[in-house]
Amino acid sequence: MSAARVHVRDCARTPMFQALQDALDPRRTLERAVAIQQVPAPTFEEEKRARVVHDYFCSLGLLDVQRDAYHNVIGRWPGIEPDRPAILLTAHLDTVFPADTDLAVREFAGRIRGAGLGDNSLGVAALISLADALTSQQVHLPADLWFAATSREEGLGNLDGIRAVWAALGQRLGAAIVVEGMALGRIYHAGIAVRRLKIVCRAPGGHSWLHFGQPSAVHGLITAGHEILQLIPPGEPRTTYNIGLISGGRSVNSLATEAELWLDLRSEDPAALRALEQQVRACVGRVQRPPDLEFEISVVGDRPAGAIAQEHALVQLAIACLETVGVAPTLERGSTDANLLLAAGLPAITIGISQGGNAHRPDEFIETAPVHSGLRQLALLTLAAATWDFAAG
Ligand SMILES: [Zn+2]
Repeated sequence: MSAARVHVRDCARTPMFQALQDALDPRRTLERAVAIQQVPAPTFEEEKRARVVHDYFCSLGLLDVQRDAYHNVIGRWPGIEPDRPAILLTAHLDTVFPADTDLAVREFAGRIRGAGLGDNSLGVAALISLADALTSQQVHLPADLWFAATSREEGLGNLDGIRAVWAALGQRLGAAIVVEGMALGRIYHAGIAVRRLKIVCRAPGGHSWLHFGQPSAVHGLITAGHEILQLIPPGEPRTTYNIGLISGGRSVNSLATEAELWLDLRSEDPAALRALEQQVRACVGRVQRPPDLEFEISVVGDRPAGAIAQEHALVQLAIACLETVGVAPTLERGSTDANLLLAAGLPAITIGISQGGNAHRPDEFIETAPVHSGLRQLALLTLAAATWDFAAG
């Protein structure tokens, strides 16, 4: 049996774990998830929801509770060995839904439907329930636990929330567990790096007949786009590009003065992503142009990535925890707050609390029964991680 498995088995037998397990209440967690979900929190507009979570953290008795300028909420549950690196537990606050989205929930047939409930109100609620169990049972682990509800995980948020948490706490951390509502059984141990570029082409413009042959921003942009489409990125490590948006010009009989395209670049490997971006920039540079046709490239999205190996202790602990609670583990790559932490060199994984479906759609739903196993998994992994020496391997 591997050292990680033995460790998790031993943790599961401790009175501390029994106490936490007894204190975790799936129904209460679901109620908290709905209470959080009812507060709109589009990316960049997380303040209201952050206030709600701040109140939870304070009322449970976490220490050093703070809300920063990004509307991240953090709080600490002290360990008994102050020199030990802390464990960070995070879940993102923001949703992909605009503030005026219908947030009505409906429970039926073992499911609760509601926009943003699984992604990620349930993740945030699970953190709150874990903090509740720790504080009510007065369970202090060797390592400090930092709880963080983060902003700006979705869309164009660029992981700026977790970036700020990392800047504030990074020095003290030994490992991180990122919690998502709907990925129970999955262990994300590797990120997909994403860069998004906006390419704008500008020209003086003119009349389609009178000035034919003079530069047009649309023609320039199409030429650059055509160059980009000739690129063949590697299949291994998997690397992709997509021109997802294109717009420009003013009227059908004018030479366009401005046109733009938005490009999404992704890779399993940050070096391959950098290489692809350089090729894209070279494509634009190669476009033959008169002096009054110009291109401007700006970075509008940057989600870094890193990975820890499948053999890493944190991954092995997570596998053993899932098996202990009777859920089959699968290893995955993803794009979550863990990306930034992994890129910064911190061992980090993302785990789930329940099953669900239709993420990022108004008819998103979660299943209620698996929450019990999801919470036990989270508590056991927290216990196992806070008693493991990651620096020693
Ligand atoms: Zn999410």
